[in-house]
Amino acid sequence: MKLFEQQELHIYNSISKEKEKFEPIHQGAVGMYVCGPTVYSNVHMGNCRTFLSFDLVFRYLKHLGYKVRYVRNITDAGHLENDGESGDDPILKKARIEKLEPMEVVQKYTVDFHETMSKFNALPPSIEPTATGHIIEQIEIVSKIIAEGYAYEVNGSVYFDVVKFDKKHKYGKLSGRNLDDMISNTRELAAQSDKRNPQDFALWKKAEPQHIMHWPSPWSEGFPGWHLECTAMSTKYLGESFDIHGGGMDLKFPHHECEIAQAEACNHKSPVNTWMHANMLTLNGKKMSKSTGNNILPDELFTGNNDVLSKAFSPTVAKFFMYQAQYRSILDFSNDALVASEKGFNRLMDSYRALTSLSVAKKSSFDVSAWRQSCYDAMNDDFNSPILIAQLFEASKLINAVKEGNETLSEADLEILKTTMHDFIFDVLGLTDDVSETNTNGDKLSSAVELLISLRNQARANKDFATSDQIRDQLQEVGIQLKDGKEGTTYSLN
Ligand SMILES: [Zn+2]
Repeated sequence: MKLFEQQELHIYNSISKEKEKFEPIHQGAVGMYVCGPTVYSNVHMGNCRTFLSFDLVFRYLKHLGYKVRYVRNITDAGHLENDGESGDDPILKKARIEKLEPMEVVQKYTVDFHETMSKFNALPPSIEPTATGHIIEQIEIVSKIIAEGYAYEVNGSVYFDVVKFDKKHKYGKLSGRNLDDMISNTRELAAQSDKRNPQDFALWKKAEPQHIMHWPSPWSEGFPGWHLECTAMSTKYLGESFDIHGGGMDLKFPHHECEIAQAEACNHKSPVNTWMHANMLTLNGKKMSKSTGNNILPDELFTGNNDVLSKAFSPTVAKFFMYQAQYRSILDFSNDALVASEKGFNRLMDSYRALTSLSVAKKSSFDVSAWRQSCYDAMNDDFNSPILIAQLFEASKLINAVKEGNETLSEADLEILKTTMHDFIFDVLGLTDDVSETNTNGDKLSSAVELLISLRNQARANKDFATSDQIRDQLQEVGIQLKDGKEGTTYSLN
């Protein structure tokens, strides 16, 4: 039997504001779409937290035995602030500053994003489509929305008619905003605007002469509105209705609200069953942001090269720190918290490694199966990683108690403990045992030294003291001290 049939997963749905029992549309398979990065600068730790939150979701669903199709897009065009009326395309802006082709900007920061994600041991999504690779699909959606009567063309640009949509479908379902309130809180439309209502948003924009990235369309030589790509790519790869749509909290409005409107206008049904939003990472209590300089880049963290850090931290420690908060709560980033996480992580790894040398008893004094289920219960409760980590520390306590002879474990229970810890630490949380990597090297080192010790013993047995002294002295030169005792020769590293 697949694990998903035994475990009852509940996910907080941002649209109903309730934890709901998760039941995928197709039994045993999950379709998940997550809004990916806009590739015009290095991702900061705040962005990383969002992607790592969904890596945890992806990993746990896979661990439960679901076949998951995880789609995460790359926004490489069309992400305009304020629908391009007063904003600028950040990719074009960066291309001007760095004197690069827009596609060079895109390539540079896509590579950086992938490298960063792989340092964090995040799994790549199943499909990673780009906005520029789906212009035809986006144009089709615009045509469909026009045909349905929810969009209009003015001077080569196409806008979504929010007021008309709201009458039949209700706009604001996800964010809980009410269109009447939005209207009464908005100032008059700018005189030059082509929009009928300030709440309308661009589906297609006619390119101004300075715009380098543009494509032909039935309305003008132009480019798609930002919200459109996610509707186009999620529909193409996951269907008109799919299981999970995720993203950062800041995307709830307007981005996700607009995605819902576009999809409902086309397909007359709700595109997403479960909306998930990951909360932000703050630094010194304030939102991480590029413009204010209040942010930390992953590489600064890995090298310790930032004034707020006292030292370098490994990606796995940073990840462990982030998973000590549930994805829906705000997490404040600080040096002290990272230092504490590093200690905790090392403690956990020490006890995990101690599992191999535990002695077994006939009977267990501890209910390992109940503990195992409590790990699942934590994750089944809306991916509550801090509770899972607390359970792993419970196991760590148990391991120490067994070592000291205060608790006992049967052979079968020790196996369950080992497998469960391995599954959750490495497969679900996706942590890596950096220390054990040095340990593997340590094992190789110790085998090499043991070999030299036995060669030295042979030399001594043959009364070849020149060779035996040479081995001892040269090992000492590289910092390895040999000690001859009653039990034979041991060594220590200086
Ligand atoms: Zn999106």
